[in-house]
Amino acid sequence: MSTHQTLHVVNPATGEPISTLPAASADDIAKAAERARQVFTAGVWSRLPVRERAVVLLRLADLMERDAEILARLDSEDAGKPITECRTGDVPGAIESIRWFAEAADKVFGRIAPSGPHGLGLMSREPVGVVAAILPWNYPLAMTAWKVGPALAAGNCLLVKPAEATPRSALHLATLAAEAGLPDGVLTVLPGYGSEAGAALARDPLVGALSFTGSTATGRRILMAAAESNFKGVSLEMGGKSPQVLMADALAYGDELIDNMIEAAFLTTGQNCTAGSRVLVHRSIAEEVLERFTAAAKGLVIGDPSDSRTQVGPLIDRAAFDRVAGAVEAARAGGAEVRTGGLPHGLPPHGAYYPPTVITRAPDGSDVLAKELFGPVVTVQTFTTEDEAVRMANTTEYGLAASVWTRDLDTALRLARGIEAGVISVNAYSEGDITTPFGGWKQSGFGGVEKSTNAFDQWTREKTLWIRTH
Ligand code: NAD
Repeated sequence: MSTHQTLHVVNPATGEPISTLPAASADDIAKAAERARQVFTAGVWSRLPVRERAVVLLRLADLMERDAEILARLDSEDAGKPITECRTGDVPGAIESIRWFAEAADKVFGRIAPSGPHGLGLMSREPVGVVAAILPWNYPLAMTAWKVGPALAAGNCLLVKPAEATPRSALHLATLAAEAGLPDGVLTVLPGYGSEAGAALARDPLVGALSFTGSTATGRRILMAAAESNFKGVSLEMGGKSPQVLMADALAYGDELIDNMIEAAFLTTGQNCTAGSRVLVHRSIAEEVLERFTAAAKGLVIGDPSDSRTQVGPLIDRAAFDRVAGAVEAARAGGAEVRTGGLPHGLPPHGAYYPPTVITRAPDGSDVLAKELFGPVVTVQTFTTEDEAVRMANTTEYGLAASVWTRDLDTALRLARGIEAGVISVNAYSEGDITTPFGGWKQSGFGGVEKSTNAFDQWTREKTLWIRTH
């Protein structure tokens, strides 16, 4: 039986309740998995010709385009994300994911083994069957679409558990999928608590693959639950503490550099897995970079996320505020200098607003340097040699992303080779595009990647067919 009966969705900017939904219990998860198993076995989706599956998903993408403003508002209200980010980033990105994976569905081929004349080995990719996705609140629709696209294109039946705070865009997506003609039971969205619905998915014996995006701590629990249940295939996209490395010639990029640094640091109010939360800058340009970066951070528009001019919204909740403020104040007490930001003054009274914050001289080992704070806080550290920069870049347990700024190609390539991260961008802050794989190294990622045709690996299994020739 469920210990939590309802889910309360609250607007982080106002503290006002938005909606109350039934929370899926462990029993609901078991029933949904059973139903998904039946639908998968019936073949109404899994055995549909792949082009026909693509047509349904392309229709879904068109309907998302029709409802783009609704979807943007749902994510902005539930997560406190600036509406302009939702309109220009999250929603178009989600539509592109669904469309791209629909179009890719019939372009992923199997293999033929180089066996001798005695037989023919054919390796085909098959859908797993019942699969699950567990999602974070910071990119609710975008992360859902990264998983829905390849999971459904491959022919699976997918159970989706959105984050507690942000279930509404995934629910709306499910109604659009039904309108697009997706058979009942192929995509089931189950809002619920992680400790109950999420844990039940991780243990469910019918779920053959589970793709998770969220914190490293939760990822670890999910992997253990999979090992203790049915060894379901697990893919984990987790936290980060990504460096932005600026070599001595980086200022050649002028305002473009500063704009990218600001976006890297403060997109989604710093509540971003790939946030460039550690600036590592060559000593020779450190003061000028700090001055320009700090001035730009000060100039960001903080406020109501529903206002299209807003660039920085509230943190997701009070607990996030306490975590961020606690780490900054501890660093300050340890000798750090807060160049801008720190405890908020004059910000909107409701909502957990915390200003863009830039810190120098943070003490070694302090949380602001080592932990994923998930807020608008950036540390700036200096280095003198390339080796030192690489060493500093690699000091955390994470390895999600990094950016490197230099005009010298050799330097860029040496740094890119030395930095341990799944995605490294040169002279940009970027995760690539839909054609490039996205996944973390070290404790940022495990078992699979999102985007690109590689994403199909999470949602398919290879089968070998051996035909003896006589
Ligand atoms: P979280 O780990 O608290 O929650 C993520 C999801 O897991 C939620 O749906 C939650 O209900 C569920 N969950 C919680 N406990 C569970 C359990 N025991 N079993 C199964 N499911 C459980 O993370 P969050 O606070 O929602 O999101 C922020 C985190 O997500 C950050 O660490 C961020 O870096 C990470 N993130 C990573 C990526 C990426 O692609 N690498 C993208 C976005 C966010």
